[in-house]
Amino acid sequence: QHITIAIDGFSSTGKSTLAKQLAKELGYVYVDTGAMYRAVTLYALQNNFIGDNYFKVEDFVLELDNINLSFKFNDSLGFSEMYLNGVNVEKEIRTLEVSSFVSKVSAIPEVRYQLVKQQQKMGEGKGIVMDGRDIGTVVFPQAELKLFMTASPEIRAKRRYSELIKRGDKVRFEEVLKNVQERDYIDSHREDSPLFKAEDAIEIDNSNLTLEAQFESIMNLVRM
Ligand code: C5P
Repeated sequence: QHITIAIDGFSSTGKSTLAKQLAKELGYVYVDTGAMYRAVTLYALQNNFIGDNYFKVEDFVLELDNINLSFKFNDSLGFSEMYLNGVNVEKEIRTLEVSSFVSKVSAIPEVRYQLVKQQQKMGEGKGIVMDGRDIGTVVFPQAELKLFMTASPEIRAKRRYSELIKRGDKVRFEEVLKNVQERDYIDSHREDSPLFKAEDAIEIDNSNLTLEAQFESIMNLVRM
């Protein structure tokens, strides 16, 4: 007996950390839908569909069929990595540059339509933990367990900042905070599938919660 676990929430609220823990514990597949939107954005940047002062939306929409996304499980890491047209892009999709364009790209209805279709297929017939912004509302409205994660913007920016610094990226805290706030704004105000808490989702504010405490309380929900 397996269930679908949908995790939504604002940027850097620890969705993927929690999702990975749950998937490991339950032997489920973990799908990071943000990685898919990030990979599509990377493609748009690499092929000059989007830049600092332009976005060729119509041309880019025609290009969507040429973008192939796949996940490959990395045994030594213990989770799946993102591949864009057969190339591992796990590192490139996490840069602040991709982060600063991704919310614009993911606001395009055609992009969402294609990715949602792929995500729904990934969940067929198996235990799955999926995280994103519209999982409990659009991708799997019938999910047995829906979580909605929040934390204060400063705490979230701090988490994202230390991740980027650990990887050796040269960023300033202020620009990370600005990016987190901008993405939250665009993600929750776009016309197509805006980010909001599904009525039947359980809200978790983890500003002051340890990872262990959070994991334990959610495992209790799973066991119910
Ligand atoms: O989860 P992550 O922060 O990596 O997601 C990056 C961006 O991708 C989000 O800010 C949002 O714009 C977009 N996204 C989305 N729908 C999802 C997952 C991510 O629009 N299901």
